[in-house]
Amino acid sequence: MASKIIQVQNLVKNYGNFEAVKGISFDVMEGEIFGLLGPNGAGKSTTLEIIETLRQKTSGKIEVDGFDIDKDPGEIKKIIGVQLQTSGYYPGLKLTELINLFSGLYNRDVNPMELLDLVNLRDKAKSKYKELSGGQKQRFSIATTLINEPKIIFLDEPTTGLDPQARRSLWELIKGIRSKGTTVIITTHYMDEAEVLCDRVAIIDSGKIIAMDSPDGLIDKLVATGFERPKEVKKANLEDVFIQMTGHTLREE
Ligand code: ADP
Ligand code: MG
Repeated sequence: MASKIIQVQNLVKNYGNFEAVKGISFDVMEGEIFGLLGPNGAGKSTTLEIIETLRQKTSGKIEVDGFDIDKDPGEIKKIIGVQLQTSGYYPGLKLTELINLFSGLYNRDVNPMELLDLVNLRDKAKSKYKELSGGQKQRFSIATTLINEPKIIFLDEPTTGLDPQARRSLWELIKGIRSKGTTVIITTHYMDEAEVLCDRVAIIDSGKIIAMDSPDGLIDKLVATGFERPKEVKKANLEDVFIQMTGHTLREE
């Protein structure tokens, strides 16, 4: 049995009189890809940022790798990797320069080319951040989460705005990171993405968790209620057509 690497109990977050997160509880197991699913405004980013120690909770208890968020936020920061908002980068610096900058901040000695290899950006090493495509920027931002060799990485809607090839490429990258033992917690409102990527998901709506299980477990429960799709299920969808015709290869120029 894998152990619990994140434990969230009765987490509440109020912004003034508004209750954004209304007492949610969940655990993330070591080595899994855990998804927080929900529509815009559900409270996903708020929850993530509180666990990342970047936002204050109103109440509740959180432990990350055995460290209490109220007592040891500094210890938690050391073992997590957080995908920063893209606007946080210096757009005029080259990728290798940015990696050196970040490794200096983390006081880590990393080989920029090795890191760029990992996210398939070796040939862009001398490019400036602002010259990258959307998918390349996302892959680069995931690379920066790995600089401190974290036990857990947090990805907040990493594929929003990407084309189908770039999304698939990012899924492969995320699976690869997990296969090396890193725990991944990801938010998304794309259900197809959650289905291929996540071991377990929590569905969050208006600040409450309304379901939590593996994707297959949730689907089985729905089917057991007698649910049937209104029409006969198509054997392929438009995205299958698109990928079949345009290929998996990334289009990034
Ligand atoms: P999600 O990431 O699921 O889209 P958020 O966690 O960003 O949701 O936001 C949850 C709710 O809290 C939304 O209604 C949002 O408008 C509100 N909210 C988020 N941040 C703040 C803030 N700093 N001040 C006030 N309200 C906020
Ligand atoms: Mg959000």
